[in-house]
Amino acid sequence: MHTNLYEKPATELCKLLANKEASSVEITRSFLERIQAVEERVRAFVTVTPDLAIEMAQEADRRIAAGNNGPLTGLPIAVKDNMCVKGRRVTCGSRILANFAPPYDATVVRLMREAGMVILGMANMDEFAMGSSTETSYWGPTRNPWNPEMTPGGSSGGPAAAVAAMEAPVALGSDTGGSIRLPAGFCGVTGIKPTYGAVSRYGLVAYASSLDQIGPIGRDARDMALILNLICSHDPMDSTSAPMEHPDFISVLDKPVKGMTIGLPSEFFSKLEDPDVDKVMSETRVVFKSMGISFIELSLPHLDYGIAAYYIIAPSEASSNLARFDGVKYGHRSAQFESMIDMYCRTRAEGFGPEVKRRIMLGTYALSSGYYDAYYLKAAKIRTLITNDFKNAFRTCDAILCPIAPTPPFKIGEKIDDPIQMYLTDVFTIPVNMAGLPGMAIPGGFSRNGLPVGIQLIAPHFQEARLVQLASAFQRETDHHLKSPVL
Ligand code: GLN
Repeated sequence: MHTNLYEKPATELCKLLANKEASSVEITRSFLERIQAVEERVRAFVTVTPDLAIEMAQEADRRIAAGNNGPLTGLPIAVKDNMCVKGRRVTCGSRILANFAPPYDATVVRLMREAGMVILGMANMDEFAMGSSTETSYWGPTRNPWNPEMTPGGSSGGPAAAVAAMEAPVALGSDTGGSIRLPAGFCGVTGIKPTYGAVSRYGLVAYASSLDQIGPIGRDARDMALILNLICSHDPMDSTSAPMEHPDFISVLDKPVKGMTIGLPSEFFSKLEDPDVDKVMSETRVVFKSMGISFIELSLPHLDYGIAAYYIIAPSEASSNLARFDGVKYGHRSAQFESMIDMYCRTRAEGFGPEVKRRIMLGTYALSSGYYDAYYLKAAKIRTLITNDFKNAFRTCDAILCPIAPTPPFKIGEKIDDPIQMYLTDVFTIPVNMAGLPGMAIPGGFSRNGLPVGIQLIAPHFQEARLVQLASAFQRETDHHLKSPVL
């Protein structure tokens, strides 16, 4: 049966490219046509860059012809709209950056260029990555490819939906409190938030700098290995980038997992009220057991405070990071103003959406004199307690298993007017960022309504290879990751 190039997994595309059985221009055209065909229904992209893509694909083909290619040369990718691509529009899903073209490349973008990858465009996201549904984007919501009434999750809803809809073989997202894992889970694809410090944040528009991390979204563990091999590296341009060697992630794909121990945090499992999520979690355990993995129950006593502490720390950092958007150097400036202060006020009032304003106000309040100790300092202490909980847990297990979200994908519009309900979506993902750990989303099954339900694996610091190894083993035994929505 004839399959289109865009339907093929990334590893197969890389093989076709290396064997000169398909050119990068052919592959890129196939994805650009696919984007044209389905984008109206998905709206995964803020900006599609066909000219840039074809130019990069031609360059990749020249490199392949000259034998000057690497494992990813010629492979297309979508990037979240918060990573700087020199001279191209990068908006962070916001009106305030609606016409912003960065003067430099983010480190991950430079690495992609050096590898000869092909950038298809910038994918949609919640404004400044604040949200769990991609609904706060100035450009309007992305739709879940499995059901257009549902959200794709957020904030990297665009990158995840693009991969699920086969508009891109792989994508880069960013994750501050779940923004790679939640949309990967909701869209039935695979995604990983690496350890804090594993991937350079240079050129990533900052949301909460002590939590932000860039990571790959793709169809399976193999895609994760391909992209992690490229992006995990030390970068002197990011002072929090870890000065260390990362393993070859491809080499762990076929490593056996027999004898490993997975921990099940009782605090997480006691929160499972949704029958679909509950069913997927039980089935997952059966699969892992059949591979010779044992389970132990464990306790992470401070998890309950995760969301409360996160919604002090993340807005506090955001209120400081977003102070730079004032109409002077970046993006939007109000057309009418009476004084400099008036210009700042009007620019920010016009440029930021309601959720971003809410976060700036929360953060400014939490950091203000007299409240700092009561809020920010307390939250920072809770963060340490959560980190220690995980440290203790990993004395007895190799990885932790839990859901990604308390429910399957929810409807567009369902939670957007109720911030607390929206924030609660991230109950299982936020603690992982608080502790700086690597966390992975893997397709775990489907709800009774045919919507994807993801599972999450968490590993100790810098053990993303273990996650890839476990996910790869899981995906040899299951076929959830091979299913795709009909569009
Ligand atoms: N939903 C969370 C928030 O709004 C996490 C978002 C993210 O990871 N960028 O902060």
